[in-house]
Amino acid sequence: MFLRQSRPPFNTASSWLLRIGMARGLTLAVTFSVIFSVFICYVIYSITNEGESFRHWLAAAILAPLIISPIVAYSCLSLAHRLRATQEALHTAATTDLLTGIANRRCLLDRAVAVLSSPSQDSRPLSLLLVDIDHFKSINDTCGHAIGDQAIVAVASACRSRLRSIDLFGRWGGEEFLVLLDGSNAEGACRVAENLRAAVEAIRLPNCPHPLTISIGVATTCDRQNPKAFDLMLSLADQQLYRAKKQGRNRVMPKAA
Ligand code: GH3
Ligand code: MG
Ligand code: MG
Repeated sequence: MFLRQSRPPFNTASSWLLRIGMARGLTLAVTFSVIFSVFICYVIYSITNEGESFRHWLAAAILAPLIISPIVAYSCLSLAHRLRATQEALHTAATTDLLTGIANRRCLLDRAVAVLSSPSQDSRPLSLLLVDIDHFKSINDTCGHAIGDQAIVAVASACRSRLRSIDLFGRWGGEEFLVLLDGSNAEGACRVAENLRAAVEAIRLPNCPHPLTISIGVATTCDRQNPKAFDLMLSLADQQLYRAKKQGRNRVMPKAA
């Protein structure tokens, strides 16, 4: 799999404009354009010296930018605001799962790169949990897709509530979720996974008699330097998930990489 870090989402020109703010931006724009205009007029007046009194030149040099520059500055700042709002909406759409509101696969991959490339914490263990809802097709088939969607949302929310805010959690695809636990060894990761499993088992969905359970494959590594560390953990967690399914589901299956 190709892991890459996305570029910063917001462009620097609009960030710079927004940092200045509307009131300060307008004041700066008016001040500089008036000073600049007076200077230009003075230069032209000195060169041409066409007999008009300098007071007329000065009035024009002050009035013109005084009227025009606030309009231009206001338009630019409004555009910067709208650009920022659009960028934020696009960034949210690109990184958030529409159904559950948690991180999507793209966001998970981006943030996994950041975790794996943090040089100061190289020796800390890293654990990956691959979470899959059991017999989800049956839930869809017996209760309908709308209830199936509710089940996915309920599982996402139960898992999120049992994880720390620093834990990376998102929807890997379909009825699968991925958790990346920075600093957790195999034992700690299994404790977290067991917590998630119990939380999901306790969910009671209205209009769904089908039990809601998850199986979790766990993989742990201490070799963050390995450029394939994420791929290796993912593959191991997938194998463990497969074993968990084969052994009866609703269980956690650990293995150290
Ligand atoms: P297992 O216990 O082996 O994981 O069985 P399973 O039925 O959970 O797995 P399977 O891969 O056979 O079925 C997954 C189903 O999840 C198939 C697909 O239609 C359904 N699914 C994927 N995404 C969504 C979604 O967003 N909403 C709903 N309602 N269903 C979804
Ligand atoms: Mg699946
Ligand atoms: Mg499943």
